[in-house]
Amino acid sequence: MTGTPAGEGTRAVRAGLPDPVNHEPTLPGPVFAAHFHLSGDPTGPYAYGRDSNPTWTHLERAIGELEAPGERVESVAFASGMAAISAVLMSQLRSGDTVVLPSDGYQALPLVHEQLRAWGITVRTAPTGGDAQLAVLDGARLLWIETPSNPGLDVCDIRRLTGAAHAAGALVAVDNTLATPLGQRPLALGADFSVASGTKGLTGHGDVLLGHVSCHDAERAAEVRHWRKIVGAIPGPMEAWLAHRSLATLHLRSDRQSATALALAESLQRRTEVTGLRYPGLPGDPSHPVASRQMRRFGCVVSFVLPDRDHAERFLSALTLVDDATSFGGVRSTAERRRRWGGDDVPEGFIRFSVGAEDPGDLLADVARALDAAAR
Ligand SMILES: *Cc1c(COP(=O)(O)O)cnc(C)c1O
Repeated sequence: MTGTPAGEGTRAVRAGLPDPVNHEPTLPGPVFAAHFHLSGDPTGPYAYGRDSNPTWTHLERAIGELEAPGERVESVAFASGMAAISAVLMSQLRSGDTVVLPSDGYQALPLVHEQLRAWGITVRTAPTGGDAQLAVLDGARLLWIETPSNPGLDVCDIRRLTGAAHAAGALVAVDNTLATPLGQRPLALGADFSVASGTKGLTGHGDVLLGHVSCHDAERAAEVRHWRKIVGAIPGPMEAWLAHRSLATLHLRSDRQSATALALAESLQRRTEVTGLRYPGLPGDPSHPVASRQMRRFGCVVSFVLPDRDHAERFLSALTLVDDATSFGGVRSTAERRRRWGGDDVPEGFIRFSVGAEDPGDLLADVARALDAAAR
C-alpha cells in the first residue's frame, strides 16, 4: 500500500493488499504449496513452505500496517496465539534470565511457567491492576504485559511500565489480543513486541486459529521467525487468507461490538443480582482512566458475577442469541461461566460475556429476559 491513509477504516480495508495488476484479484487467494520451484542456489523469498508463503506475506504486511501505520515494522504470523506467545518467550529468554509475567493473564500462561522454570528461567508474577508488575522488575530480562487482562479486564499503563522496564534493562512484550490493533497499539506506547491471538477479535468469526507478533527491530523479528521455523508453528495458507479477508471488516466489527458492549455494561449496572461488573469503557470502572488514555476502542468483553454457580448456569441456558462457548471477539455473541475451566481465580458465578455484532436492542433484550428467568 502506498501512503498511509489517516482513517482506520480505510487502512483496514486496504491493509496488506498488493499493488493492482490487471486481471489479478484484489486479494490474491491462498497459495497451497509445500515447496516452490527453485533452481540453483536457494535465493529469493519462497523455497519451502515451513519458512515462507506468499499468503503469509500479505497477511503479515496487513497486520504490520495496523500495528504501526506508516512505520517500519515486521510482523510474523503463527498457527495460534500460544504459538506466538511461546515464540517470543522462548526466542528471547535464556537459562539464568528472569521474566515477569502477569499473575492474572491468559489461562495457558501458567503452563508456560513450568516449561520456563524447567529451562532455568526465573518466573516472577504480579497482578495487572495498579501497575503492580513495576514492583518486581529488578533484574528482569523481559516484562510480559496483558492489558486488558483476560478474563478480569484489569488494565495497566503500558507507557509507564515500558519506561520502567527499559530503564531496568528489560524488554517488553504486550499481549494485545483483547484490544486488537484497532483498540490499542502497544508499539506506539513503547513496547518492543506486540503479540496476540488472532483467533479472537482480529479474525472475528470463530472459525480460525491464528497468532501474530509485531516489532520494529528487524533482528528480534528474525529471532521470532527463526523460532517459528525450528518449531514449525506455522499458519495454514487457508487460515492466513481467511484472516486477511476478515481484517477488512475489523473496524466495522470493533466499532459495533464495543458500542454494544458499553450499552450492555450500562444495562447490567442497573441489575441488583449483578456484582463485580467490569468493562474498561464504562465511566466509573477502575480501568477506565488508564484505558481511556491508551485505548481507542474498549473491546467486546464484559465480565460480571452472578450470585452462584446455579444462577449463572440458569442465565446461560436461558439466553437464545448468545452461545454458551469459550473464546471471544466473534460476530456471534458468546458467554461462559469462566470457573468451569478451573484455571482462572474467579468466583463460581463469574461470566465472561463476548458481545457480537447482533442488533444491540435484540441482544440487550435477550440478556434482560435471561436474567429475569435465572432470578426465579
Ligand atoms: C485466547 C488467548 C490466547 C491464546 O490464543 P490461541 O489462539 O487460543 O492460542 C492468548 N492470550 C489471550 C489474552 C487470549 O485471550
